[in-house]
Amino acid sequence: MTFKDFNFNEQLTEGLLSMGYKTPTAIQQMAIPVVMEGKDVIACAQTGTGKTASYLLPVLNLIGEHPKHQISALILAPTRELAQQIDQQVEGLAYFTEISSQAVYGGGDGIAYEQQRRGIDNKVDILIATPGRLLSFLSSGSLKLNHLQYLILDEADRMLDMGFHEDIMRIISHIPTKRQTLLFSATMPGKIRQLARTILKDPEQINI
Ligand code: AMP
Repeated sequence: MTFKDFNFNEQLTEGLLSMGYKTPTAIQQMAIPVVMEGKDVIACAQTGTGKTASYLLPVLNLIGEHPKHQISALILAPTRELAQQIDQQVEGLAYFTEISSQAVYGGGDGIAYEQQRRGIDNKVDILIATPGRLLSFLSSGSLKLNHLQYLILDEADRMLDMGFHEDIMRIISHIPTKRQTLLFSATMPGKIRQLARTILKDPEQINI
């Protein structure tokens, strides 16, 4: 299997080439077609398997060549480091498209908060966020998620271990129920299955 089999648009294909990705990894081969069909996904995958691109590529392709510059995709991640890494992959893969992204995370000072807020004001298509910081933007009214189409939870098990369950549920209350939801987790304990039952609709399960 090659990336050609997915028929990604030209700009995204150029991005893939520039990143040096030649062959889809196992998780990418399994997840990309399912996400492109519009199905919800629960995937068990470790870091290093190419899991990030397995959800980014189909979402970038679906947002397409003419992005609306309103938040279409939200990616929730447990830490600032992961949020920044995801944002870097978006920037690399989407380099030849007009899709824009912004990462928001806590741990910075007031200046970081203000910079992130202004970044969102610049009309982004993809928002990558740690749950706590995102909630403070949502509660202050400086951010709306009413056009959201794709919700992705990355390292969901770590987010629950860090005590983000309630924050995640509060964030979801700001998001349209008609959406596509993708949940990625390195482990599948009962509390992840329980969360999946609450927020996913008839998901396809992928294990690698
Ligand atoms: P991840 O598991 O998403 O953290 O990805 C691990 C690393 O593999 C990242 O540095 C990606 O840029 C890289 N990567 C993802 N997919 C591919 C691919 N198909 N070919 C080569 N490298 C990849």
